Amino acid sequence: MISINIKGKSVNTLKESYYQATALWSGVCPICQRHYQHYGTYSRITPYLFGPISIQRVYCNSCKKSHALLPCFIIPYARVLDVIREAAIIGISFNTQTIEELAELLDVDPTTVARWWRIFRTKSGVLMESLTKKLAQSPQLSDWASGPLHTPHERTKKILELISRCKNFFSPGFAFCGLAWVNIHNPYLLFTHKGHDKNTGV
Ligand SMILES: [Zn+2]
Repeated sequence: MISINIKGKSVNTLKESYYQATALWSGVCPICQRHYQHYGTYSRITPYLFGPISIQRVYCNSCKKSHALLPCFIIPYARVLDVIREAAIIGISFNTQTIEELAELLDVDPTTVARWWRIFRTKSGVLMESLTKKLAQSPQLSDWASGPLHTPHERTKKILELISRCKNFFSPGFAFCGLAWVNIHNPYLLFTHKGHDKNTGV
């Protein structure tokens, strides 16, 4: 999949903004450097706030490979908005609520919140590496590198801080949450999946 930045202000107009963005989108295949062709759509029911949404596919003619153009605010393979998942990660890492309380607040199953937390911890190494590499390209002072990183909670707080620094520096005015920014940077950083998901078309 390819995550694309949507310039939307209100939830009501996000779908429309997505359709406009995909109509205008053009991109080059990183393998063969040829332009992707628009290649039909498929319907995605989730996240429930938006669904069903018509997801645009693009296709590389020479590599014979298709990709879904996902709006940045949808985590690939996930059924909820990234902002929901981010709220859960923040709540756990800052210890403001228990997993059960977060599940009530966010209207998901506690096992789902626990799974998000587990995935985030599993991904913390690659996230940290990718974000610090990205920040090293900016002229910011390296004070962001400091802080205690002994526990998963401390590491997560640091990652959230790095995401926020990256977002503010590289995408000022970006309308969505930190995980949405990570999706544009590299959507493969935020999920683990077993096999292929029928909803993604990829
Ligand atoms: Zn190609």
